[in-house]
Amino acid sequence: MIKEVFEDEAKRPRVDYTLPKAEMHVHISLALSNDMFGRRVKSRRTPLEMDFLVKREKRYYKNLTEFHNTYEACRGMTSTYGELASTVQNYLERIAREGAIYAEISNSFREGDEFTRQMEAVQAGIEAARENTGIESRIVVTSLRNFGAEKAEKAVVALQKLNNPFITGFGLVGDEGVDSFADYTRALNMAWDAGLGLTPHVAEQNLQNAVDFLTSVPREAWDISPNDSRRLRVGHGVLIHMSTDLMREFADREICMEMCISANKRIGLPRETRKLRSGEVLTASDGSRRITVDNKLRQYYEVAEEHPIADFMKQNIPVCLGSDNPLLMNTNIGKEYSMAHKAGIENEMDSLALTRNAIKHANVDAITRSRLMGHVNAFEQTVKAGHRPDRTALGYKRAFVA
Ligand SMILES: [Zn+2]
Repeated sequence: MIKEVFEDEAKRPRVDYTLPKAEMHVHISLALSNDMFGRRVKSRRTPLEMDFLVKREKRYYKNLTEFHNTYEACRGMTSTYGELASTVQNYLERIAREGAIYAEISNSFREGDEFTRQMEAVQAGIEAARENTGIESRIVVTSLRNFGAEKAEKAVVALQKLNNPFITGFGLVGDEGVDSFADYTRALNMAWDAGLGLTPHVAEQNLQNAVDFLTSVPREAWDISPNDSRRLRVGHGVLIHMSTDLMREFADREICMEMCISANKRIGLPRETRKLRSGEVLTASDGSRRITVDNKLRQYYEVAEEHPIADFMKQNIPVCLGSDNPLLMNTNIGKEYSMAHKAGIENEMDSLALTRNAIKHANVDAITRSRLMGHVNAFEQTVKAGHRPDRTALGYKRAFVA
């Protein structure tokens, strides 16, 4: 008799592959498969070596700077139109086989014609993957905070000119301590007025950003009509678990947070964040808000089980999942659902709620949203009727299920 033995029981998938999933936070240009990475190493397109894939410590980072250095070492791996288009297609098709029905993929803004071409490449990848698997995707264009607020505003103007139907979101990435989040108020308002949803990185490394986020986004975004395609989410947001005030406000305003559990576990936090103590008060840059820190920093950057995702769900904050940087974090969206399970999202309907939140807060038109939600509802009805689907929502079947 053939027996399947998992070398490490802890690595056994914890969420069924048929459960509809959504990938809501992925920096797509470096989402190469291991095979693609291997070919780039062979042709010396990166200073990294093959041991990057097997030595555990290679994909753990002391701090954001160390992570960014590795990111830079990889940057040249996706430099042509064909490389970007095939990286997008390959990643989306891989996650479709893991059960993903939707992905919102990020690409950073660059000035000039090169960017137009990049967006065309991403679009070609999305269309090919959709044709082959049925997976739906949209693009979030991000501006790097290290380049400042003016660059972010330029990005929005450029996006309006591009008029690419797949670009439906705008985000901010980079060092959260380099300037004030409030400096981006104008850029965020411009993006919103241009018809884009907002999903900036907030409170991944620096809690003050979450306080300023609340005063910097357009008022209108708090109360969006269900038929509007624009949504307000934050990338990460994980540090808000340190403040009951912030958690309450995020819950009241239904701000969706993209949890990236592997990324949180693999990148160390800055000293100022680790030093925050109960009783400290953070004030918004415009003085309009004061929040108190009243919970200890959870040790999720060491132990995945410590991640506060389950607390967020209990507090009614809508959360969804993202793999952030699959190659650099040794993850994929299927694994992130298993990580959430490890961190306390054990009930299958709670795992499904992560997808439901994602679809509810996706930057898509009403027809697409309702079609995607149909997959979520169909899975729920099947399971509640006592049956087990034998394939994913998009029709993938596996010969063997662990
Ligand atoms: Zn990210």
